[in-house]
This record gives sequence, structure tokens and C-alpha cells, in this order.
Amino acid sequence: MSMVDNSDRKKVKGKLLGLPHGTDYSILEKIEWADSLFEEFGSDLLKDPRIQDVLSSYRAAIAETSKVMEETGVIAECTDCAINDGGSCCGKGIEAKFTVALLLLNRLLGSRLDKERQDMDGCWFLGERGCKIAARHTICVNYLCKRLQRNIARNKLQRLQRYIGAEADAAFVAEEELKQWFHTRKKMQGG
Ligand code: SF4
Ligand code: SF4
Repeated sequence: MSMVDNSDRKKVKGKLLGLPHGTDYSILEKIEWADSLFEEFGSDLLKDPRIQDVLSSYRAAIAETSKVMEETGVIAECTDCAINDGGSCCGKGIEAKFTVALLLLNRLLGSRLDKERQDMDGCWFLGERGCKIAARHTICVNYLCKRLQRNIARNKLQRLQRYIGAEADAAFVAEEELKQWFHTRKKMQGG
């Protein structure tokens, strides 16, 4: 994105502080925007106690969901599906649902955002071993396909859904906190 090439650093910072809320850009533009924000403000964000707090809750919620997916047999089911059915549900186009804020959250959680699609028929973030990013979209987190509903006991899925709900809530809180951080910064700079 040309913004970062601007020699007037103050102007660039001001522009960057306008964290875009929608999804109306190509995924590459949104990734470049998130990368620019991370380079410019990443260390300030990571030093902010409130951001640290929401990131730590979100990270913990992601880890809990993943643990329960393992325990309930969802990971085994999805691995078998990917190997034997070629059936990934991570289809091309899902990446369009991502906002810059969610992409930036990924950077803050330590995920890299690749500049190229690896699987030509799959989601931008799909790699050989599944999803490559930590902060997935709610659509991804909530998705329990027919195969899972058929093969995993209902009580196990209900348990998993509670963790999925907690992860989605933590993601929402983190994204809102991030937006608020930029909003406050912009106001402080008179924007
Ligand atoms: S969620 Fe369903 S479709 Fe997707 S990989 Fe798992 S089993 Fe396959
Ligand atoms: S889980 Fe990851 S790879 Fe799959 S659709 Fe969601 S973001 Fe894309």
C-alpha cells in the first residue's frame, strides 16, 4: 500500500490511525494495512495493559477451544476428512470476511499473514496443515459440519460449543478494545 511510502511520517501515522472497520478491500490490501499498523503501533499496543489483558484472554480461549476439539475427537475427524475426503471446509473466499482489526489481532498474537494464497481452491489462510492463523473468523470458529454432527456425540459437541462461544466472545472484546485504542489515539492527535 502506498501509504507507507509517504515521506511525511506524521501524515502517514494520522492516516493509519483511521483503522478501517469494514471488509470492503481486497484481502491483500487488508493484510498490507494490518502489517503497516503492526509495524507502526505494534510495540505500543503490546505494551498497553488493557490490550495485553484482552490478548491474553483471547489467547487462552483459543487454546481452550483447541484442547476441547482434541478431546472431543473433532481434530481426528477433521484430519481424516482432509486426508481421505479431500474435504476441507476452508473454502476460497472466506478470507473476504476478515476486517483489518482481526488481521491486526493475528499479528499481535504472533501469526504471520502470508501475501499469497497457498491452496488455489481454499481460503487464503489455509496451509498444508490446516489454518495458519490464530485469530480465526467467527464463521470458522462456529462451524460444525454435518459430518461432525453425525460422528461426534451430542454432549461432546455441546461442551465444545461452550468453548467456541467463549472464544467468539473473547475475539469480540479484543477487536472492540483495539478499535477503541485507535479511536482514542486519533482523538488525542486531534483527528
Ligand atoms: S469441519 Fe467438517 S468439512 Fe471441515 S474438515 Fe472438519 S470434518 Fe471436514
Ligand atoms: S479456519 Fe482458517 S483457513 Fe479455514 S476458513 Fe477460517 S481462516 Fe480460512
